[in-house]
Amino acid sequence: MRWEGNRQSDNVEDRRGSGGGGGGFGGRSIGIGTVVVALIGWGVFGINPLTTIGVLSGGGGAPQVQQGPAKARPANDRSAAFVSTVLASTEDVWAQIFQQGGAQYRPPKLVLFRGATPTACGTGQSAMGPFYCPGDQKVYLDMDFFDTMSRQLGAPGEFARAYVIAHEVGHHVQTLLGATGKVDGMRGRVSQREQNALSVRLELQADCYAGIWTRYSQQAKNWLDQSDIESALNAAGQIGDDTLQRKQTGTVRPDAFTHGSSAQRVRWFTQGMKTGSVQACDTFSAQTL
Ligand SMILES: [Zn+2]
Repeated sequence: MRWEGNRQSDNVEDRRGSGGGGGGFGGRSIGIGTVVVALIGWGVFGINPLTTIGVLSGGGGAPQVQQGPAKARPANDRSAAFVSTVLASTEDVWAQIFQQGGAQYRPPKLVLFRGATPTACGTGQSAMGPFYCPGDQKVYLDMDFFDTMSRQLGAPGEFARAYVIAHEVGHHVQTLLGATGKVDGMRGRVSQREQNALSVRLELQADCYAGIWTRYSQQAKNWLDQSDIESALNAAGQIGDDTLQRKQTGTVRPDAFTHGSSAQRVRWFTQGMKTGSVQACDTFSAQTL
């Protein structure tokens, strides 16, 4: 992926250098106790206000945390520059798509953090993998996850990382377009099994949106070659629910899928990339996923 030299986004907030894993962390409302309660709360109530890339699971669901006003610029390093560049490209692509639809795109902020950080969805933790919080419209990313992808998930490659960012930005687009709210509105009114099925459709749509971004970013910059596309398709496959379940427990339970199978994730990413159409990403109306 030839990304160097392209525009970098102003919407990156770097909380890595603030010690203890995030600006404001260690404030009175967050401590180990809150984190433990949050973990229990998630397990009991099935509350998961975060939309993740779906690789790791963990805490979240803590009470609202006061958002610090600090807005640090990213430290000058290559990984942060890469993330800023990919984010900037998602801004360009989605701004154009929204404009063509007569709307205005409001880009998300992307927070770089280490360990744990406060979010409007509760305490964000690295163990959850990258995630998007609709409550504050921010993408949260601990870049150590990129190493996890390469070393543990069998998903190396720069463009695989870009896909992860584009997937989370896809959740932001869903929030702007209303899909997130609709799915969240069903929480508690449908069975866990039905809730999981809705989650799968939401996640596959985010994959499809990542595919849309791939198409138009390539048209604009010609920065990918075939091996880049393959690294993203491989990543989408490696983090399919069936593949992860098989690795973790040796068995596959489709009822427990929250992000879709490997084949489905690859299919919807490809669908977005081939069509470039938001309408073609309507996973909620699709007869088969
Ligand atoms: Zn997701």
